[in-house]
Amino acid sequence: MAFYKTKVGFFIFISSFCVSLLSAQEEEVVISIDKLSSDVYMLTGQGGNIGIYIGQKHVFMIDDQFDRLSDKIKAAIASLTNKPIAFLFNTHMHGDHTGGNANFNTDLTTLVAHDNVRKRVMAGQQKKLDDKKITLAYYNNMLPEVTFSEDISFYDDDETIMAFHVHNAHTDGDAMVYFVNNDVIHMGDTYFAGRYPYIDLKSGGSLQGFIDAHKKALMVISEETKIIPGHGRPSSKKELESYVGMLEDLKSNIMAAIVAGKSLEEVKSDNSISAAYDNSHGSGFIKPEVMRETFYRSLKSQ
Ligand SMILES: [Zn+2]
Repeated sequence: MAFYKTKVGFFIFISSFCVSLLSAQEEEVVISIDKLSSDVYMLTGQGGNIGIYIGQKHVFMIDDQFDRLSDKIKAAIASLTNKPIAFLFNTHMHGDHTGGNANFNTDLTTLVAHDNVRKRVMAGQQKKLDDKKITLAYYNNMLPEVTFSEDISFYDDDETIMAFHVHNAHTDGDAMVYFVNNDVIHMGDTYFAGRYPYIDLKSGGSLQGFIDAHKKALMVISEETKIIPGHGRPSSKKELESYVGMLEDLKSNIMAAIVAGKSLEEVKSDNSISAAYDNSHGSGFIKPEVMRETFYRSLKSQ
């Protein structure tokens, strides 16, 4: 664990579109709000789902979508509470989850993430800084200020917020956040409800780590737990179990193809491998062919 700035807050226990087209697109983004428990909400706009916990004195926020949506997200939060955001937690480094970091990083708000999120956000923003697309102040405000390697807990009156790292799943810096009393878990992009997953192999993700992350979540939650996926609608434990079943099935189909000596091209073009799930899960951002390629590459490199 490492501290980069100290601020007041909870007690912490450490264990090419053109501009006009883009503006038109922004106009259309509406931030919708789902209430999942007495204190936890899910915000949906564009990019990863946001989690909001409204505590006794402060707000605990999970992920922040894109830089251009920050004002809308702030307005949505203001419609729920006027309490300050004490913590902003990044589930991982991708820009549709961390893009608004600098806009939320005030003296009242501490940014928290896994060690590798800070490293990868630094690397990503460094290029923009070198190209003079962002200022040094913006760069500094993008970065997580408290980082951890395995897990970290936050306490707010009777609520315990447990964040834990899962290894080499969607990336190499994923963490899930579980609100114990509210019984809500935010799984970040280790869960894509109702669609094939994106596993970022270049940023340290792996199929086996992804499946193991689901199993870890299943050990923590109950039948009643509400699950916030990184993308998609809120889910139940039953839905997560069935999703893991699908991943295991696809994994064994692709493993069988590898054992049979099939090439990447053969697996990519063989629709029968994932035919049972393509209709229900293959129409999202990750198409069946891309899913088969990613699973193949990940299993081959094991
Ligand atoms: Zn992601």
